[in-house]
Amino acid sequence: MTQHMQTQMIAQDRIQTVLPLDEKLEPIFAEVVRRNAGETEFQQAVREVLESLGHVIAKHPDYADDALIERICEPERQIIFRVPWMDDSGAVQVNRGFRVQFNSALGPYKGGLRFHPSVNVGIIKFLGFEQIFKNALSGLPIGGGKGGADFDPKGKSEGEIMRFCQSFMTELHHHIGEHTDVPAGDIGVGGREIGYLFGQYKRLANRFEAGVLTGKGMTYGGSRVRTQATGYGTVYFVQRMLGTKHTDLEGKRVAVSGSGNVAIYAMEKAIALGATVVACSDSSGHVIDENGIDLDLVKEIKEVRRERISEYARLKGTGAHFLGSGSIWDVPCDVALPCATQNELSGREAATLIKNGVLAVAEGANMPCTREAVRAFQSAEILFAPGKAANAGGVATSALEMQQNASRDRWTFEQTNARLSEIIAGIHDRCRETAEEYGAPGNYILGANIAGFVRVAESMRAHGVV
Ligand code: NDP
Repeated sequence: MTQHMQTQMIAQDRIQTVLPLDEKLEPIFAEVVRRNAGETEFQQAVREVLESLGHVIAKHPDYADDALIERICEPERQIIFRVPWMDDSGAVQVNRGFRVQFNSALGPYKGGLRFHPSVNVGIIKFLGFEQIFKNALSGLPIGGGKGGADFDPKGKSEGEIMRFCQSFMTELHHHIGEHTDVPAGDIGVGGREIGYLFGQYKRLANRFEAGVLTGKGMTYGGSRVRTQATGYGTVYFVQRMLGTKHTDLEGKRVAVSGSGNVAIYAMEKAIALGATVVACSDSSGHVIDENGIDLDLVKEIKEVRRERISEYARLKGTGAHFLGSGSIWDVPCDVALPCATQNELSGREAATLIKNGVLAVAEGANMPCTREAVRAFQSAEILFAPGKAANAGGVATSALEMQQNASRDRWTFEQTNARLSEIIAGIHDRCRETAEEYGAPGNYILGANIAGFVRVAESMRAHGVV
C-alpha cells in the first residue's frame, strides 16, 4: 500500500467516526462532501472546523446567514497547471502544479508550496483551508492559500530542481504578487527552491518585488528567524502550555518526528530550553539516542549531505540506533512533537504515548494526528495544541518578512525572535480565552477554530457578498 493510500484510508476512517454536527452545519458538510468527492483530507479538515463552529452558531445564529460558512468552505480561486521540464538525460517530464487561493478577507493569500509526489488538489485544499484560520489566529493581515506540485525532489540533481522551479514559476507568476498572493516553502520547498522561484519571477516580471515570496535568502530580502520560525514557534507554544501546569521543558524527554525544516528547529529550541530530544525520524524510519540527539549531526546529514536519517546511527555509533520499522511514538517521552506530515500519528500510537506518560503534544506539522489520536489525547486530558495554533510561527514570521520588505528594513535576530515569541504567546492566550468563553477550558482546538473563524467571518460580512 502506498503512503498516499494509507493516508486516504486514515482520513476516510476519521470522517466515518466523527462527532455529530449542529443541524445547520450538517447540510453544509454534506454539500462539501458531494462537491469535493474523494478529497478526504480536505473533507477531514472542514469537518474538524465545523465541529467547533456548532458552539458559535448556538451563541450567534447569524453567523450561519448569507451562506457565510458555505463561502468559507469554497476556495475563491483554484489554479491547476502543467509543469513541463527537461531532466538531465534530455527527456521531457510533466508534473501538475496547483495554487488554491482560498480566502482573501484579511489580506493577500498567504501559504506555502509543497513539492511531494503525494500532492493532489485535495491535499492542497486541506492545507489552504487550515491556513485561513491559522493566519487569522496570528492576528496579522494575511489571507489563506496553498500550492505545490506532485514533483518529487528526492534524487534530483541541482539542475533538475532549478529547471523544475523555473517552469513552475513560469505559470505561477501570472497569479501572484505582493498584494495578491505570497507563497512560501513547505515540504520539499526550502531556501534553495525559493531562490530559484524568486529568480524566475524577477526575470518574468522585470521587477525586484521582494514581497512576492517569503522564506527568501538573507542576501536578497529574507528575514532573520524565518528558517527557524515554525519549529521555534511550536516549542514556544509548548512552553506556554506547560506553564499553565506550572512546569516547563527543562529536563523533559522530547520525541520529534521528521528531520526537515520544522523538526530540526523544534529540536534546536527544545534543547536550548533544557530538554533532551531522544528521537527523530524521516520517511524511512526513526533514530533513538538516549544521550540526546546530536543536532549538528542531523543538520549535516539533512541540510548538507541530503541523506537518510539511518546515517545518523552509522556515524554516531555508540548509544544511537536506527529502526526501519515500528513507530517513533513507541519511544517513551514527556513531550511529543509530530513535525513530519499529515495523519502520521494514529489512535494506537496516541494510546502508547498516553500509557508512557506523555504530558503535552503539539502539532508542528499540519494535521499530523488522526481524529482517533486527537480524541484520545483530549479524553486523557493531555495538553494538545493543533497545528493551526502550534505551527503558526512560520507564517507569522513570513508576515514579518513582508513587513520588512515593504519598509525596506531589516530587523536583528533578537528583534524578530522577540516578535515571534510575542505572536505565539498571543495565539496561545487567544485560544485559551476563546475556549473558556465557549465553555470548554483547555480545549485548544475549539479555541483556535473559533477565534480564527470569527475574525474571518466578521471581515467577510463587512465586505458584503463577494
Ligand atoms: P520538510 O520537507 O523540510 O521535512 C519533512 C520531513 O518529514 C522530512 O524529514 C520527511 O522525511 C519527513 N516525513 C515525511 N513523511 C513522513 C512519514 N510518513 N513518516 C516520517 N517522516 C516523514 O518539510 P517541513 O519541515 O517544512 O514541513 C513539515 C510539516 O510542517 C508539514 O506538514 C508542513 O505542512 C508543516 N508546516 C511547515 C511550515 C514551514 O514553515 N516549513 C509551516 C507550517 C507547517 P523524508 O525526507 O524521508 O521524506
